[in-house]
Amino acid sequence: MDDYYGVLGVERHATQQEIKRAYRELARRFHPDKNPGDAEAESKFKSVAEAYRVLGDAELRQKYDDHREAKKETPGDIFEEIFGTRRQKRDRERHRDRAPSEVPSRRAHSRTRHAERGSDLRFTLDLDFVEAALGSEKRIMIPRHERCETCAGTGARPGTAPLLCQRCGGTGTIQVQQGFFDVSSSCPKCHGSGKIIPQNCPTCDGTGTEVVERPITVKVPPGVDAGTRLKLQGEGESGPNGGPKGDLFVVINVTPHPLFHREDDDVVTEVPVTQAQAALGAQLEIPTLEGKVRMRIPAGSQNGRVFRLKGKGIPALGGRGRGDQRVKILVETPTELSDRARALYEELLQLEDDKSDDASLVGEYKRLLRELYEA
Ligand SMILES: [Zn+2]
Ligand SMILES: [Zn+2]
Repeated sequence: MDDYYGVLGVERHATQQEIKRAYRELARRFHPDKNPGDAEAESKFKSVAEAYRVLGDAELRQKYDDHREAKKETPGDIFEEIFGTRRQKRDRERHRDRAPSEVPSRRAHSRTRHAERGSDLRFTLDLDFVEAALGSEKRIMIPRHERCETCAGTGARPGTAPLLCQRCGGTGTIQVQQGFFDVSSSCPKCHGSGKIIPQNCPTCDGTGTEVVERPITVKVPPGVDAGTRLKLQGEGESGPNGGPKGDLFVVINVTPHPLFHREDDDVVTEVPVTQAQAALGAQLEIPTLEGKVRMRIPAGSQNGRVFRLKGKGIPALGGRGRGDQRVKILVETPTELSDRARALYEELLQLEDDKSDDASLVGEYKRLLRELYEA
């Protein structure tokens, strides 16, 4: 952009009167009538006229000043965008009262040369409770855009090559003059790619990508839960025109388990026991994530009591340690009794009714229960 103030030889803050005077003087000096055949003078005369056309009009001059100011600040702005200094805010406030189109956009410059990145993909992976808790490896099929094999992603028919776009010279952007402003915009001929494909690849029709159903192995780490999102970098779609690949996000869904449920990293189980087992104590077989283990409950275990199997829970996702398995005892009252069991229960009831202080009672009670347990 020309320095119009310099051309007229006036100060930046010159009044309209001073500008007019400077113009008249220069116009007289370089007028073609006074300098016949002098190309330099003619060129100067034109510059002076152009400078005065802008600076001589108060409105145009204001726009010119704003634009010059903004241009001067641009390099600093980039610095501040990275480091977030205070000046950025001040400048933004200064720009606020301008129409957005008048603030020169430098973002338009940086965006265009890069080939577009491929889209991210999302896949919901169903796991059963144990797979999620202990981790697993799953093979999934993902339909996605990949680089076209036929044209190696160029989009051009084999034997032909993409040509440099003549309109933008291969940059993908064109400069449009709007008043004083050079505005960058995406080249309408090549849509910003900078290339023109003379003949489309027959496989991908010029897009450079084709849809392929791709098998992908997902390594599920131990400890994932419903809603956990695994990121598989670069397993998303390929970008058009050889752009970088997007990512694949695998979202975990966990199907409920009939015996286990999860509380943080603990596995919670409920185990039914008989009245005799609860009263006398018993050795129980408890299902865990890794098969059955033996667990002893003491005599007199109450309904609802919780026992803890240390380290039998879920490994912490991405961390160390492991939760516990909490085993809750449910004492069950029998609903159907064999003849023998009925007789024993009746005998027990009799014993309770006697309300005897006899020391032998407890021993007798236990004997009956043991018989029940074995019945
Ligand atoms: Zn172009
Ligand atoms: Zn192709």
